[in-house]
Amino acid sequence: MGPTLFMARTKLQRCTECKAFGLGVKCKDCGGKMEAVAALKFSPEDPQGARRRKRQDAGSEKWVKSLPSPRKDDDS
Ligand SMILES: [Zn+2]
Repeated sequence: MGPTLFMARTKLQRCTECKAFGLGVKCKDCGGKMEAVAALKFSPEDPQGARRRKRQDAGSEKWVKSLPSPRKDDDS
């Protein structure tokens, strides 16, 4: 384990056919070929990408931790 593994996991891909974002080598939407893109390069104007990112975020460990927990800090 190390930074190399982390970067490989977070490498963003985009479909050359329908421009959908994903993480595999093959598009989950249309089966098209995926090409690597820089993580910060995706367009915020792409509604499909935005919807997909939101769906991936919801339910993730990070998302769960971001939820407000009333009993988290009662030392105030
Ligand atoms: Zn596609």
